[in-house]
Amino acid sequence: MNAGNRPKPRQAIAAMPQYSSAAGASQVTWRASSNESVVAPSPGVLDAIARAGATAHLYPSLLGDGLVADIAARLHVTRRQVVVGAGSLALLQQALSTYTGHGTEVVFGWRSYEAYPILAGVAGAIAVPVPLDTDGAHDLDAMLAAVTPSTRAVIVCSPNNPTGTEVGRDSLEAFLDLVPSTVLVLMDEAYQEFSARPLDGVALLDAYPNLAVFRTFSKAYGLAGLRAGYMVTSEQIADSVRAASPPFGLNAVAEAAARAAWMDPSYIARVVQLVAEGRDRLRAGLAERGVHTPASGGNFVWIPLPDGARELGTGCLARGVSVRVFDGEGVRVTVGERAAEDAVLAAVDDLAATAPARLRM
Ligand SMILES: *Cc1c(COP(=O)(O)O)cnc(C)c1O
Repeated sequence: MNAGNRPKPRQAIAAMPQYSSAAGASQVTWRASSNESVVAPSPGVLDAIARAGATAHLYPSLLGDGLVADIAARLHVTRRQVVVGAGSLALLQQALSTYTGHGTEVVFGWRSYEAYPILAGVAGAIAVPVPLDTDGAHDLDAMLAAVTPSTRAVIVCSPNNPTGTEVGRDSLEAFLDLVPSTVLVLMDEAYQEFSARPLDGVALLDAYPNLAVFRTFSKAYGLAGLRAGYMVTSEQIADSVRAASPPFGLNAVAEAAARAAWMDPSYIARVVQLVAEGRDRLRAGLAERGVHTPASGGNFVWIPLPDGARELGTGCLARGVSVRVFDGEGVRVTVGERAAEDAVLAAVDDLAATAPARLRM
């Protein structure tokens, strides 16, 4: 067959960057590259998974009714305000494809979650990345200035992946007061549970009907492998996103696991504690070595290293730990596992001994 006669994807898809997966998985002792929980699911969650597996020949409820009810009750919102799906990534995708499209623009801080430009592109929209400020935090004034009549959505990620920085509630409200009410604001709160002062977008929903909050069971709840997340927003936005979403978006096993995890505060408390200790330990160890990092509200630490990110990533791998490398920018390390943090510090010492200039910030 003539190569020219094949089906062609839309131009935006053909030009799309690919998601990167955790590097060098075979030589890795500790995975610190994907912000997964360092604690396996609790026995209660494993039991719920097994029980749900026994009826896997049956369809789940159309909209994940059981999990929706649990979330609505705890967060004091109506069930109609909650949409669940196969990870918050899927829900972000569904919201963007519902509210944006060809010729429209999606504004977000950058660097941030690598999915945003991809999701905007898949929806057919133009990605408008707005550089973070010099502290690695969202520059809300610059983001506001980037909003044009073509803007249909703005994404705010707090704590921000990968820098860990957080948007303050006052600055967020001042920002929301100025964003046109016709623009959908997506608050990505994937790391909310790890923050000492979490920005609670759900508490702002009554004041800002153009707001949608996205959270996940993949990080603090330890269910990354099962794919479960939720969106809380106005009833009208939720109705529209549901209308545009595939039915049975949350599988029965993931729903059962998420419901059990939702009701298990001791697991979250333990993970959050391990993460808080790990963040402090790793940041202190790095500071002792002259490597200064921004305070992080997530389960990871950002090491800004424009000259040595790749080298530090290679060095960490040699010490048995995979980290996330952003070439020319820095390295993101998931925390909570003391041995992995020690390995990263040892890799920094290696680099200081062999190529100290690489550690220049
Ligand atoms: C991990 C992550 C998500 C969510 O992932 P899912 O596993 O799809 O729920 C969303 N946003 C950010 C910023 C993340 O880091």
